[in-house]
Amino acid sequence: MIDPLPLLFALTGACFGSLTAAMAWRLPRGITVWGRSACPQCGRTLGVADLIPLLSWLVLRGRCRHCHAPVSAAYPLVEGATALFWNLCPLLLPDPLSALTMALLGTALLFLALVDAQWRYLPDAGVLLVALLALVPGRMEVGDCLSGGLIFGLLALGTRWLVSRHLGREALGLGDVKLMTAAGLWLGPFDLPVFLILSGLTGIAQLLLLRLVSRDTKNGVPFGPALCLSLLACVLLPIP
Ligand SMILES: [Zn+2]
Repeated sequence: MIDPLPLLFALTGACFGSLTAAMAWRLPRGITVWGRSACPQCGRTLGVADLIPLLSWLVLRGRCRHCHAPVSAAYPLVEGATALFWNLCPLLLPDPLSALTMALLGTALLFLALVDAQWRYLPDAGVLLVALLALVPGRMEVGDCLSGGLIFGLLALGTRWLVSRHLGREALGLGDVKLMTAAGLWLGPFDLPVFLILSGLTGIAQLLLLRLVSRDTKNGVPFGPALCLSLLACVLLPIP
């Protein structure tokens, strides 16, 4: 018999992807996350048929039903990526609670990476969710979890102070410090070296990629996406 859980996760993931894309659009613009969705061009409220993850965008060919203004392809991409990730979670982690925790972690990290890449800040609500998910019972010894958070947080705070003093401007945002503390809660104290190396390499790759597409990198690049990707890799992949 086919296990229905991966399909159930994929469908739920598509809905969470839709929510993630909407929150990443609304929150930085100060728009309430509770209101009904509306077309940003014509302002018409969107109905249920306009909000079915992936399908609505495909059926309407990426345009608003009312004013035919183009709707960003970022929406189906985020919805599809989230659905795929949620689908994989129960296949990788047979325990349903672990799979759900991982799926929610991936979604929160995607949200944080999207907002930081565009707006250069990491919303506290997203970082708090990452931290709370780390505290799900049975995942890790409480002592390891808390000492990881403390060590990662202090190290990030120290680095922020030192580098900012050296450069004469803010080098590592407070949001990055909070996210690194949450990463410490997830990874415990022993995975710190691997996380730091991976974050550094991902950050450099991101910088090179942005330079390649000729975006202005004189004022630095947001470090959040590199931290998010590295945390997810460290949690998912077995570290020797
Ligand atoms: Zn419209």
